[in-house]
Amino acid sequence: MSVRTSIVWDYAPAPEATDHVRLRDSYGLFVGGEFRDPVDGRREPTINPATEEPLAEVAWAGPKDLEAAIEAARAAQPAWAALPGRERAKYLFRVARLIQERARELAVVESLDGGKPLRESRDVDIPLAAAHFFHYAGWADKLRYGVAGREVEPMGVVGQIVPWNFPLLMAAWKLAPALACGNAAILKPAETTPLTALLLAEICQEAELPAGVVAIVPGDGATGATLVRAPGIDKIAFTGSTGVGRDIQTALAGRDVGLTLELGGKSANIVFEDAALDQAVEGIVNGIFFNQGHVCCAGSRLLIQESVADQVVAKLWRRMGNLRVGDPLDKNTDVGAINSAEQLARIEALVAAGEEEGAVRRTVACDVPERGYWFAPTLFTDVSPAHRIAVEEIFGPVVSVLTFRTQAEAIEKANNSRYGLAAGIWTDKGAKAFEVAAALQAGVVWQNTYNHFDPTAAFGGYKESGFGREGGPAGLRPYLREKGA
Ligand code: NAP
Ligand code: MG
Repeated sequence: MSVRTSIVWDYAPAPEATDHVRLRDSYGLFVGGEFRDPVDGRREPTINPATEEPLAEVAWAGPKDLEAAIEAARAAQPAWAALPGRERAKYLFRVARLIQERARELAVVESLDGGKPLRESRDVDIPLAAAHFFHYAGWADKLRYGVAGREVEPMGVVGQIVPWNFPLLMAAWKLAPALACGNAAILKPAETTPLTALLLAEICQEAELPAGVVAIVPGDGATGATLVRAPGIDKIAFTGSTGVGRDIQTALAGRDVGLTLELGGKSANIVFEDAALDQAVEGIVNGIFFNQGHVCCAGSRLLIQESVADQVVAKLWRRMGNLRVGDPLDKNTDVGAINSAEQLARIEALVAAGEEEGAVRRTVACDVPERGYWFAPTLFTDVSPAHRIAVEEIFGPVVSVLTFRTQAEAIEKANNSRYGLAAGIWTDKGAKAFEVAAALQAGVVWQNTYNHFDPTAAFGGYKESGFGREGGPAGLRPYLREKGA
């Protein structure tokens, strides 16, 4: 008789070291090239969402602090713009190199402050942030070629507001093109994740960037709203929710202030029956569970061709069971902490709505730490296109499955959204992929991959996902105006 033993094995803990991280107890506002105490702002702790422990205290800018930042930026901008492009490029290049030098530290701080798995901050966020500075360093002396030979000049002083899901990367997406074009920039990081932007301020100092060219002014929504309305700002670049984007657009109506908005999404990830299904399942997982689904372009509406729907759902559910949820600093973690208590409540409310409306919920059973904010990977089937979980952005590790029969129906369902940020197409047929991509109302369409970012490629939305592009030569345009215009 032969006896078969099944071996049950698990990963040993593999925590990333944190002893190399140099966090200060308290950070001032980065204004005029130095860290300053707030004049009419205050100090607030920023916490680690995986433990609820405070990490450091951070100054929040009040209206007078913003005035000072704008004044310093206005004073610095003309000389910055007057530098030959290749000289500005050297500063950007230095910032990129310093990000690389401090990559380990930045990755750990990003994971501590925001809750994302170290594997992602180390392999995606930080290298891509450096790559954006390298890319735009290359453009600084070639601006005319980026805008089809037109005579252009910088906008002037730009206000930039970023969300908490990719704190350093979003800061790089904003600052690198603005600086390459000769603008001075005032960046407001999100309330829950200010730390890597403050480390970037240290890097600007180390790179000897002229004082005033970059300001980092942490704060809450009120700080952002004040910055938007402040006199002396020539352009606002905003990434965040569609609701706040609308408020900003209203506030700027009738004013000669440039505006670009990168807003929310409810992106369709479309799986055709002829796709390599195992590969598609990996893409679905990456599309929705990357960064706990806190991704504007997350593939949160999974459209599967009816003939393979049961098979794909079964494979996906099996694969979801292998996701490791927990300590963001563990190198084997796939799904980290939810960014804040507020975001967790938002996810829970929408998931409850999904159940109430009659969709079928499956949530992976897993042990999560007692403290901190967690939500286990979740899959909804029997979703109708009118359900809230099929319409609204959940911004969490929750995927809603819908089915379709024909290519035309897939396109119609994918486009049936007020958003239009991104989409994914899984098929073996190249011609079908191109045909479908051309019919989709989405700024980015990935074929047989998902959540793939590159500094040379433009990113941005259709419809209520916003307007303006970031990345590549298209990303220069929002930071330049035609001479005399
Ligand atoms: P949010 O509430 O709109 O916040 C974004 C930023 O705006 C934060 O810095 C926030 O400060 C600030 N803010 C809040 N109210 C403001 C106001 N009235 N005026 C000016 N600024 C204000 O968005 P979120 O919930 O943090 O981020 C998630 C959203 O961002 C999602 O909808 C996601 O799709 C979107 N997003 C889009 C892209 C893209 O490229 N299209 C990329 C990433 C994320 P506080 O942090 O203090 O609230
Ligand atoms: Mg935090």
